[in-house]
Amino acid sequence: MDKQILLTPGPTPIPPETLAEEGLPIIHHRTREFSKIFDEIRENVKYILGTQREVYLLASSGTGAMECACVNICSPGDKAIVLAAGAFGERFVKILTAYGVNAVAVRSEWGSAVAPSELEKALKENPDAKAVFSTHTDTSTTMASPIQKYGEIVAKTNAVLVVDAISGLGGQELYMDKWNCDVVISASQKGLMAAPGLAFISVSAKAWPLVQASKSPRFYWDLRIAEKFMESGQTPFTPAISIIRSTNVSLRSIRKKGIEKVYEETRELAKYTRDLGLKMGMKMFAKDPADVLTGFWVPEGVDSEKLIEKIVDKYNISIAGGQEKLKGKIVRVAHMGYILKSDIDKGMKALAETLNEMKVPAGR
Ligand SMILES: *Cc1c(COP(=O)(O)O)cnc(C)c1O
Repeated sequence: MDKQILLTPGPTPIPPETLAEEGLPIIHHRTREFSKIFDEIRENVKYILGTQREVYLLASSGTGAMECACVNICSPGDKAIVLAAGAFGERFVKILTAYGVNAVAVRSEWGSAVAPSELEKALKENPDAKAVFSTHTDTSTTMASPIQKYGEIVAKTNAVLVVDAISGLGGQELYMDKWNCDVVISASQKGLMAAPGLAFISVSAKAWPLVQASKSPRFYWDLRIAEKFMESGQTPFTPAISIIRSTNVSLRSIRKKGIEKVYEETRELAKYTRDLGLKMGMKMFAKDPADVLTGFWVPEGVDSEKLIEKIVDKYNISIAGGQEKLKGKIVRVAHMGYILKSDIDKGMKALAETLNEMKVPAGR
């Protein structure tokens, strides 16, 4: 069987030098050795985020960082606007609701971003909204949001802008400070080319008073405790030591290349993937497509879950299907992080051959 190729939008493939770092003997976290790594990784994340603000590391998957943002920014009874453009936007609605926050969802058609004019309207109708929750790239619908525009709009109000950049960071353009993003969260296993289990959050000066004032129940996610421990270059609880070390190796490589260059390469690979799919006769799913992954409709009469299974069995290549209401209907091909052009070639070829075998033309 051929070597496994991951074209799924998280976890994504991991470079060998990052994998090697993960296998190093464990060190203790209350040491100077760890503090040095802790300092360096935070600097690297700040560089990629485009922020001067502090970055807090969380031992969790991305959803933990989403919950961390919710409980530190909102209190029970508060109102928050959620720009829900896919399954991950809906996840914010669920988390906020679980904590007794009144989540006002502004929805778009899946595959399209919520229009900035819709955000303006929602803010006018809900002047008491404390925060606006958005998704940088909603991995479920393969779309990218106009975060810069959202930032301009929210900056004029008292509300703060929360951005879920879990799949977008390190692939899709984002400049936290320049674009007026107040809270940005991300995780290790997508564009940042590392194993799952490490998440990040950064909070602007505008949003920090909300962290101090939040009345939501919180302990593990309480950023006030994290901030206190930061004074001595430590985390309050046992950090994800091995994943921090290994993620840092991937982040170093992004920094060495330069984030602008990474954005450019990701954009090019996105175009390359889309062109291959279109040439095969497939149609793109998203009207506002992301640079980090592409969704294609599968031809009428084909169940994309079965298609994906066949591709994994025969080629050992993993492609993602649709989530929730898109289950069976689309395929999603990631082209972020350590996914190379040669991987895309093999994946798209396997897709075309399998569709052929299933005796359906690739067009819909
Ligand atoms: C993957 C993803 C999440 C969830 O992350 P987990 O690590 O699975 O908890 C949230 N938001 C977006 C946009 C994602 O791509």
